[in-house]
Amino acid sequence: QCPWGTPSTTSISCSLADVMSEQLAKELQLEEENAAFPEVVAVAEGPFITGENIDTSSDLMLAQMLQMEFDREYDAQLRREEKKINGDSKVSISFENYRKVHPYDSDSSEDEVDWQDTRHDPYRADKPTTTPRRGFIGKGKDITTKHDEVVCGRKNTARMENFAPEFQVGDGIGMDLKLSNQVFNALKQHAYSEERRSARLHEKKEHSTAEKAVDPKTRLLLYKMVNAGMLETITGCISTGKESVVFHAYGGKSVTEDKVIPPECAIKVFKTTLNEFKNRDKYIKDDYRFKDRFSKLNPRKIIRMWAEKEMHNLTRMQNAGIPCPEVVILKKHVLVMSFIGQDQVPAPKLKDVTLSSEDMKKAYCQILNMMQQLYKECNLVHADLSEYNMLWHDGKVWLIDVSQSVEPTHPHGLEFLFRDCRNVSQFFQKGGVAEALNERELFNAVSGLNITADNEVDFQAEIEALEKMNEDHVQNHGKKLSMFSSDGDPPIYDE
Ligand code: ADP
Ligand code: MN
Repeated sequence: QCPWGTPSTTSISCSLADVMSEQLAKELQLEEENAAFPEVVAVAEGPFITGENIDTSSDLMLAQMLQMEFDREYDAQLRREEKKINGDSKVSISFENYRKVHPYDSDSSEDEVDWQDTRHDPYRADKPTTTPRRGFIGKGKDITTKHDEVVCGRKNTARMENFAPEFQVGDGIGMDLKLSNQVFNALKQHAYSEERRSARLHEKKEHSTAEKAVDPKTRLLLYKMVNAGMLETITGCISTGKESVVFHAYGGKSVTEDKVIPPECAIKVFKTTLNEFKNRDKYIKDDYRFKDRFSKLNPRKIIRMWAEKEMHNLTRMQNAGIPCPEVVILKKHVLVMSFIGQDQVPAPKLKDVTLSSEDMKKAYCQILNMMQQLYKECNLVHADLSEYNMLWHDGKVWLIDVSQSVEPTHPHGLEFLFRDCRNVSQFFQKGGVAEALNERELFNAVSGLNITADNEVDFQAEIEALEKMNEDHVQNHGKKLSMFSSDGDPPIYDE
């Protein structure tokens, strides 16, 4: 007998059709990828993150989560003791300074700066004058300035949490360790260069995995939201796109108290791999709202800017009464908003739903209205409007996916609008809505411009000419004028 055993004869016969099958090729490739990166597959199954069920693929992250859990319990105990000691006494003492859990929003200094930049929509005409950030907390003689050495030292220690998860920071976070600014800064510098080094190292792997899953940092961010009680459970993934992953979650208690968290939330995670965002540069690079910042930012921040943009644009829409998700919170590249749908089932996209001709007509009228509102009241062009980004819910159309939306005076704003109009008009004409305007009529109806060209090519040319005129105006006058300035000036394009 053959010492190596009999060769297995179970090799499956394989037809030419199989060899040529793209389907098969895809399946095989998928299998291979799954074998190479098995941890990624788990994402879609079962609840993604709950209080009990946490991802354990990274030891450090697990340690951080445990630490957070411990800190929370420690604080709860502290609060109980505080209560016991104080009783009904009129004079009470506070253990506030001994608490371990840093407020949910505590972040690295770098991030704090981001926050400040992004809190208000910086481009609204009635831009609020930014109040100087308070450099102190407390009242009267209990005042503590941010220069207080002890507080500052503790804060610096807490900030270490924000270094890359791979970066070993020891047990400092758990202890009442105080780092001087000098030591902290040196450490931070080192952490960043380590991060860059490890990013280069892992680039190759990252590219194939990040397609499907979120990175440990993002997971930690999500976990923090659950841990803070803001989200009850993250149940799973609704959608994986090229640029974002969307999760469903049940809302928890509010962190800020003044805001009610919707019972169901959608979490949009903007992907931190950069390659997909390169081709979106044109949306943001030419957007004057971001012009000053764009050049100075590193790619990671540019991705946060997409999330930020989506937040501001949604807020504008909300204010105009356009049906759209309501912003709950923005955290770095993660945007939490209200969920359009029910019981974990997202509302269907317009492309996937079959509407009665009556509803179809209703939807069309509504969209025409929304496009006008978006343009006139929000001063925005959706720039990716199609049946893919409109959801049908509660008998009406909801607009989503507005991270790429721009103002009409964006150097390509009118072209984007024309493309939107083409998509909408084609969809409803094909859908049998007799009232549907053609793309050129729709463009004029939305923009209030009166472009008379009767064919696509000339129309497009006129649009580009208008854009050019606007750009020249910007060049000559140094700054861009709003097409709808509040004092009722005519749109700049009328000049
Ligand atoms: P992408 O850039 O990946 O297209 P979208 O914002 O369009 O990002 O989200 C992708 C998908 O996730 C949507 O098509 C929709 O099905 C779902 N989705 C996004 N936001 C919500 C939401 N607030 N409620 C329900 N479903 C949502
Ligand atoms: Mn989309």
